[in-house]
Amino acid sequence: MAEKAWSFSRAFRNVFGGGSETITDDTWDDIETALITADFGPEIADSILEEVRESVERHRVSEVKELKRILREVLEERLAAFDPTLKLTDRPAVILVVGVNGVGKTTTIGKLSNYLTRFDKKIIVGAADTFRAAAVEQLATWAERAGVAIVKPQQQGQDPASVAFQTVQRAIDEDLDIAIIDTAGRLQTKGGLMDELGKIRRVIEKLAPVSEVLLVLDATTGQNGLAQAQAFIEHAGVTGLVLTKLDGSAKGGFVLAVQEHTKLPIKLVGQGEGIGDLTGFTPHVFAAQLVP
Ligand code: GDP
Repeated sequence: MAEKAWSFSRAFRNVFGGGSETITDDTWDDIETALITADFGPEIADSILEEVRESVERHRVSEVKELKRILREVLEERLAAFDPTLKLTDRPAVILVVGVNGVGKTTTIGKLSNYLTRFDKKIIVGAADTFRAAAVEQLATWAERAGVAIVKPQQQGQDPASVAFQTVQRAIDEDLDIAIIDTAGRLQTKGGLMDELGKIRRVIEKLAPVSEVLLVLDATTGQNGLAQAQAFIEHAGVTGLVLTKLDGSAKGGFVLAVQEHTKLPIKLVGQGEGIGDLTGFTPHVFAAQLVP
């Protein structure tokens, strides 16, 4: 992550990039503005400010430089309150990938497959978004790029649960490590979609436990995206989050907000459209990016 120039680091760069060396009322105002600009949301922004203020007073800090260190520590500690480890101990480990259309599910599966093959994991992906031919083709392209196997529907609109079942069955038969299932994200038919995801899950569980249900969120949509994803959080048994498009987002604060609101860990971070643009989530690296 270190080599990228993050749009969201701008918010705090403006606060700490010059001006007074000692803390003034303006410093606090600037931090508050930066927290709001970065989309932490008003409640979290307030509670961060309060925590930082308390620490500054307790340690009798007067320099802006020290204040910055404290802010970074507060952010890091809060970001680290959730466990970002992907659970891959089951064999096969089954990963369901869910989320609204366009957030980056298929791309994430391609990048994740590529990433995991580097650890010698044998992978199969399943195209269970069976109504969109383009989605199936896109996943096939990613699978080829990553050099992993794929199960595609035999015809458009085939029952998504049957594709998921076949994918996991092949993982078992061929002694593969991981099965990653792409799913539909049509929000218009929310009830139907949640039923479909429930069925996919039940059918898979006849063969193997579902190790992870990863909800993909587009970081550029910030808090709005979170509202859209609420149905998945309530009904799909989500175990972790993937934040995509962080490369294009000024809303770095969303990273913390999303964990604190959902009480779910961020497990992966997407930072571009290339096959290598996915990393695990490391709180200290992220805090340092946020407050450079
Ligand atoms: P899906 O409908 O959820 O499967 O979304 P797609 O995987 O098709 O992605 C939608 C668009 O977002 C595509 O144009 C992707 O290239 C783009 N995209 C996905 N992840 C990222 C990311 O981390 N950064 C950027 N800049 N674009 C991304």
